[in-house]
Amino acid sequence: MSSAPEDTGDDVFDQFLSQRGHETEPVRWERNYNKKQCPECSGLHDLSASECSVCGWSP
Ligand SMILES: [Zn+2]
Repeated sequence: MSSAPEDTGDDVFDQFLSQRGHETEPVRWERNYNKKQCPECSGLHDLSASECSVCGWSP
Protein backbone atom coordinates (compact mmCIF):
# COMPACT_ATOMS: atom_id res chain seq x y z
CA MET A 1 0.00 0.00 0.00
CA SER A 2 2.58 2.51 -0.99
CA SER A 3 0.00 4.84 -2.49
CA ALA A 4 -1.56 5.81 0.85
CA PRO A 5 1.13 8.33 1.89
CA GLU A 6 1.05 9.89 -1.56
CA ASP A 7 -2.72 10.33 -1.41
CA THR A 8 -2.49 11.95 1.99
CA GLY A 9 0.13 14.32 0.67
CA ASP A 10 -2.06 15.25 -2.29
CA ASP A 11 -5.00 15.92 0.00
CA VAL A 12 -2.99 18.26 2.16
CA PHE A 13 -1.61 19.99 -0.88
CA ASP A 14 -5.04 20.32 -2.46
CA GLN A 15 -6.45 21.76 0.75
CA PHE A 16 -3.59 24.21 0.89
CA LEU A 17 -4.22 25.27 -2.69
CA SER A 18 -7.98 25.55 -2.32
CA GLN A 19 -7.62 27.57 0.87
CA ARG A 20 -5.36 29.97 -0.95
CA GLY A 21 -7.77 29.97 -3.88
CA HIS A 22 -10.76 30.80 -1.69
CA GLU A 23 -9.10 33.96 -0.51
CA THR A 24 -10.69 36.95 -2.11
CA GLU A 25 -8.21 38.94 -4.07
CA PRO A 26 -6.16 41.02 -1.67
CA VAL A 27 -7.42 44.58 -1.62
CA ARG A 28 -4.68 46.95 -0.73
CA TRP A 29 -4.03 50.60 -0.62
CA GLU A 30 -3.35 52.11 -3.97
CA ARG A 31 -0.13 54.06 -4.11
CA ASN A 32 -0.28 57.60 -5.35
CA TYR A 33 3.16 59.20 -5.27
CA ASN A 34 4.09 59.01 -1.60
CA LYS A 35 0.53 58.68 -0.41
CA LYS A 36 -1.81 55.80 0.16
CA GLN A 37 -5.00 56.00 -1.81
CA CYS A 38 -8.17 54.32 -0.60
CA PRO A 39 -9.51 51.91 -3.28
CA GLU A 40 -13.04 52.60 -2.09
CA CYS A 41 -13.28 56.38 -2.07
CA SER A 42 -9.92 57.36 -3.60
CA GLY A 43 -9.09 59.38 -0.51
CA LEU A 44 -5.40 60.10 0.00
CA HIS A 45 -3.70 59.30 3.29
CA ASP A 46 -0.25 59.24 4.80
CA LEU A 47 1.67 56.01 4.46
CA SER A 48 1.25 55.48 8.20
CA ALA A 49 -2.53 55.39 7.89
CA SER A 50 -4.03 52.01 8.76
CA GLU A 51 -7.56 52.79 7.71
CA CYS A 52 -9.37 55.33 5.59
CA SER A 53 -10.54 58.26 7.66
CA VAL A 54 -13.02 59.18 4.92
CA CYS A 55 -15.01 55.98 4.46
CA GLY A 56 -13.53 53.76 7.16
CA TRP A 57 -12.05 51.21 4.75
CA SER A 58 -9.09 49.18 5.93
CA PRO A 59 -7.08 46.47 4.19
ZN1 LIG B 1 -11.93 55.57 1.75
